[in-house]
Amino acid sequence: MGQPVEDASGFGPREDDLQRLWTPHRMVYIGGEDKPADATASACPFCRIAAGDDEQGLVVARGATCFALLNLYPYNGGHLMVLPYRHVPGYVDLTADETVELARMTQTAIRVLTAVYAPAGFNLGMNQGEVAGAGIAAHLHQHVVPRWLGDANFLPIVGRTKALPELLADTRARLAAAWPAVAASAEQVPGAQVPGAQQPTPGETA
Ligand SMILES: [Zn+2]
Repeated sequence: MGQPVEDASGFGPREDDLQRLWTPHRMVYIGGEDKPADATASACPFCRIAAGDDEQGLVVARGATCFALLNLYPYNGGHLMVLPYRHVPGYVDLTADETVELARMTQTAIRVLTAVYAPAGFNLGMNQGEVAGAGIAAHLHQHVVPRWLGDANFLPIVGRTKALPELLADTRARLAAAWPAVAASAEQVPGAQVPGAQQPTPGETA
């Protein structure tokens, strides 16, 4: 304590005027350590997370057929994914119930992120197949990426690096805490069949 961990004088002369942002944790992604060995459910990280602990797996919310979790390699802070528990690769593989719940949980994810982080916009999307950019192609997942003005700076282009202002465990805790109340109020939007529930005026949600 009180001693520097590393002595900068041992790093030799400065070669340019650029500052460095060291992100050694990115090597896990670059090295592909979390890529499934094959397309089976037993090798699938999403199936493992679905069966495991919420905090460990960064699970934000669980429904009857689908669940929502934080992306371990986020494009932005709050980058969520909504996916079925079932290990299926395609959007057309979903049952009617899964299709509805995936859509409803995506809406709730947008509402929760809006309530907690007030982003200016969202990117939503599913990559079908590795050729289309799916990291885990064997298990369908819908990305929900909050966007802020100016969030796409030079870092990802020049440095293949994304600066993120909050630790994933903290983001998970905040979103998981906000989810139930937001989901409950979303049940009361016009058009939702909630017997006896008072219908709010449009635009009054969350
Ligand atoms: Zn799976």
